[in-house]
Formats: sequence, C-alpha cells, structure tokens
Amino acid sequence: MKLFAEKILLSSGWAENQTLTIKHGVITAIKSGQDNDVELAQGIVIPGMVNCHSHAFQRAFAGFSEQGSDGQDSFWTWRKIMYKFLKQLSASDAEVIATQLYIEMLKMGYTRVAEFHYLHHDVEGKNYTPLATMAQAIFKAAQQAGIGLTLLPVLYRFAGFGEQVPSEGQRRFINDVSQFNQLVSDCFALSETYANTNVGIAPHSLRAVDKASLQAAVKHVRQLNANAPIHIHISEQQQEVADCIAYYGKRPVQWLLDNVELDPQWCLIHATHIDENEMQGIVNKGAVAGICPTTEANLGDGIFPTAEFLQQQGTLAIGSDSHISVNPIEELRWLEYAQRLIKQQRAVLATKEHSSVGLNLWQKAAQGGAQSTYSNVGELAVGKQADLLVLSQQQLTLFANEDKYRLDSFIFASQQNPVQDVMVNGCWVIKNNRHHLETSSRHKFSCLLNRLTVN
Ligand SMILES: [Zn+2]
Repeated sequence: MKLFAEKILLSSGWAENQTLTIKHGVITAIKSGQDNDVELAQGIVIPGMVNCHSHAFQRAFAGFSEQGSDGQDSFWTWRKIMYKFLKQLSASDAEVIATQLYIEMLKMGYTRVAEFHYLHHDVEGKNYTPLATMAQAIFKAAQQAGIGLTLLPVLYRFAGFGEQVPSEGQRRFINDVSQFNQLVSDCFALSETYANTNVGIAPHSLRAVDKASLQAAVKHVRQLNANAPIHIHISEQQQEVADCIAYYGKRPVQWLLDNVELDPQWCLIHATHIDENEMQGIVNKGAVAGICPTTEANLGDGIFPTAEFLQQQGTLAIGSDSHISVNPIEELRWLEYAQRLIKQQRAVLATKEHSSVGLNLWQKAAQGGAQSTYSNVGELAVGKQADLLVLSQQQLTLFANEDKYRLDSFIFASQQNPVQDVMVNGCWVIKNNRHHLETSSRHKFSCLLNRLTVN
C-alpha cells in the first residue's frame, strides 16, 4: 500500500507531503509528493509508542485498590490485594482481560507491548497442559487486538532474598529452572505461529531468583536467540534495596552489574532507587531503564532520576505496568512533571538539540521501547516496520500551529485523545478511534469484572 501524509514525523524530523510505500508491514520507500493510488492519512502521522512493561491481568483490578486504611497502605499491601484477585483467573479470563487491555492500548497510541508474564499455572498452582496455556492466551489476545507483542515469561522462584519459600499467593508463578526453560522454548515455538511477536525472558527480581537460576535462564534464552530481550524488576522499593544490601551486601543494580553481563537487550524495570555509580553502570552497558511513571506514583515507589540519566545519554522506555493508566501521554507528562516538582524548574527533559520536551520524550521513549523489545519499530524510516499513529489535525492545530509545538501540545495540553487511526505492521487496527472488536470485548470484560471479587 501507499500512504500519503501532509505532515509526518520521520526519523530525520518533521516533513511535509510525503508518500510512504509499505510492503509486508515494512516501509520500503519514502518520497516527496503525492503518488497515484495513495491512501490519504487524515491527520498528522507519528511513530507508534512501545509499552515496555505490562502485567495484563492487573488491568482488571485497577481502581479496586485505592481504599485507604490509616496511612498504612503501600506497594506491599497492594500486592496482597493483587494476589487475592488472581486466585480466581482462568486462562480464558486472562485472554478476555488482555484483549480488552490491548485494544485500549492501541486506541491510546501504543503499537507494541512487552508482556511481563508471570501467571503460569492454574489456580491451585498445578501445571496446565500444555505448559504454555497461559502464554498462549496472551498470544491470542495480542493477535485479536492486532498489537505487536514481546512475550517475556517470568522466572519466579522465591518469596524473598535468601531463597525464601514462596507463599500460597505466589504458587501460580513458580517454576524450577528446567521447567521454566521448557516454557521459554514452548513460547518461542508459539511465537512462530503468531505474526509480529517475539519472545525474551524476565527474571522477576533479585528477591525472586537466585544467581544460578538467573544465569541458567539467561544462557538458555540466548541459545534460542542471541538478542532476546531480558527484563527484570529492579530497585522499585526502598525496602527491596535494604533487603538486597542485607543479603548480598550490595544495592540491586550494583549486584546486577557485578554478576551478570548486561547489554543493550537488558531492560531494568523501575530502576527507581539508584546511586550515581549504578546509573553510570546502566549507561555504560547500554541497557534500557524501563520507567512506569503512573504506576510508580500510584504505588508510592519513588522517582527515577530521569534528568540525570538522560544527561548521561541513558536510554529509557515507558510502561503502563499495573495499568492504572493506559495512556502514553500521561506517562510522558508525569515523567516530566515529577522532575519539575523535585527541581522546581520547567522543561527539565528538554536538551540543546531537542528544545521541545514533548518531541524529545516521544522519540526517546519510542526508540528505547523498540530497543527493549528487540523490534524494528519506534521511528518512521525506510526499512522500519510501519507502526504509526494518525493524530487528529483539528485537535492538534487548535493548540499548536507550528511543528515545534506539536508534540508538546499533544503531551501537555490534550484534553481528549487525539489518536484517530493506528497502523501496526502495515495494517489499520484503529480507524476513527474505533477497534472492530471493542464492543464485544468491553461486554466480555464487564461480565468478567462482575464475577470477580477483590475482598
Ligand atoms: Zn511490574
């Protein structure tokens, strides 16, 4: 197909009146002027956003954990509610939730998601047959929604540092290393049958895996694909840092730097509490910091030192994690606003080369997200996959009439969702802000919510 855009954000910057030729989901040519037989983009075209961190099932209890109890609520009390909730979910429930979530993501401008997938076994903790039944539910959901998927089966072994025995609430997550590696191999095989998907792994956290298991899992996945993405929760909570120091004598990121060969395919989710050496270590290894601003705010985690990290040329990606928000605009807005509130300054995440905060953050997060998922997306250029958004010209030009203001207006001043059309891998999945399955998906999702209890 050929797509004509009056205004488009290419990797080289804003351009006008460009025709994109798209074959088998990939942009094969970009040239000035309007070719014959083109489809007209009805607005401003920008690259789709990558969501580097999702736990799909958590979408179904977003909003059920905001009831306070005398200032005693924390990440850890939230997690208890989460465990109660997921005791009830079947594989088909997981598919319903993930399908609804992925449609919501597409409508807001996420075109690819990394699913940090740890709900492996049935409600009693027994293996499904086949073992990858829950993973398959995620593949099916992504296919139905039409979103790109990087599936990251999670290695989860222990309840805490020192190989603590898992709690009952964690039994659906637990595998020994050989069973986990089998699951990973099964997911690689499944990925072959679902378009626009790939597979990596996610050792859950340093509290949930030991060194030998971590190394064995990394070795196995790298034999299957030398560039497979590897994500880990790291340093999200102060208590986690204190526990890590007590057990290993080191802070979490420092331990990782000293014990594992980090590389650009590693993505450190949260990395919230890091010192200067740890930050420099992440940057030197070329690893990605996966930041989830709305979840980190919702859970009271803390604030990642984004300004300092970007000054050192660090690579970041954004994720919606618990899905308290499913909106890349809100993630990027809060990435910047947290820095403004701490530093009592404005436009903190702009640079000399990129004076527009909005443009800088959108491009950096999309490209960092592409790196974190080892996928050929994140920017619009010849040879890249055609994952793109068409933003409503009417809405954006209402607030921004020059290129340099457009993404600032999009991220900081939009009161309505300006994402009108969405293309993933060369196919339209959202047209006029509608997905062809959204009515049936919403119905199934609301029936499921009526059935589930959280208390
Ligand atoms: Zn997470």
